[in-house]
This record gives sequence, C-alpha cells and structure tokens, in this order.
Amino acid sequence: MSDDVKRMADLLKSGATMLSDVCPNCGSPLFKVKGEIFCAKCNKPVVYARATGPQATVSASMLLESVEQTVIGKISETNELLKLEKDPERLSAYSNLVFGWLSMLEKLRNLKETFNQS
Ligand SMILES: [Zn+2]
Repeated sequence: MSDDVKRMADLLKSGATMLSDVCPNCGSPLFKVKGEIFCAKCNKPVVYARATGPQATVSASMLLESVEQTVIGKISETNELLKLEKDPERLSAYSNLVFGWLSMLEKLRNLKETFNQS
C-alpha cells in the first residue's frame, strides 16, 4: 500500500523534485527526474499536457476534491511511516513529502476558493 510512498522518498533522495502537478491516471504528485516527469505510484514516466483552455474547467472542482482526498490520504500514510521510521535520511525524505503535500493542499484550497467565487 505504501510502496509508492517509499518510492517517492527514494526519488527525492536521488535528487528528484516534486511538482505541483498530479498524475492524470492516479492523482499522485508527479516528480521531475532528470528532465522526465515520473509518477511514483504508476512507477512510470508520465506524458501529460498541462490543463489549459476551457475544456479544463469541466468538473474541475470535482477533480480538485478528489486530488485533495488523495493528498490527505498520502499525508496520513506517510505519517504512519514517520512514526516507525528511525533512519534520519528517510525521515527527512518523508518530511519533505509531507511538506510538499501540505503546500499542495494549500494551493488546492486556494484554487477551490477561486472556483467558488466565479
Ligand atoms: Zn500515476
């Protein structure tokens, strides 16, 4: 269940950066590894188009809702790992993940407010 979280932590350790975009297949945060966009959950590179234009507004708030649930689930999964982890490097990688997800949540909530106002 948390294999993808471990993979994300390993990606971060190997110098990958977490993107604010999520995988179009599974909603997990995407990572940039050596110029490639990679999904840790699908465990494969992702080719995706940034959502632009009017077609992106179709059920965008539903999508945001589902991404938010995913992120909250990930934070709680990682929290369980954090409780058990003793290795300082992994701890720091997990903390980075949680930090990234928290800032994602913040962005998501700002986005949702923007949608609700329009
Ligand atoms: Zn994916």
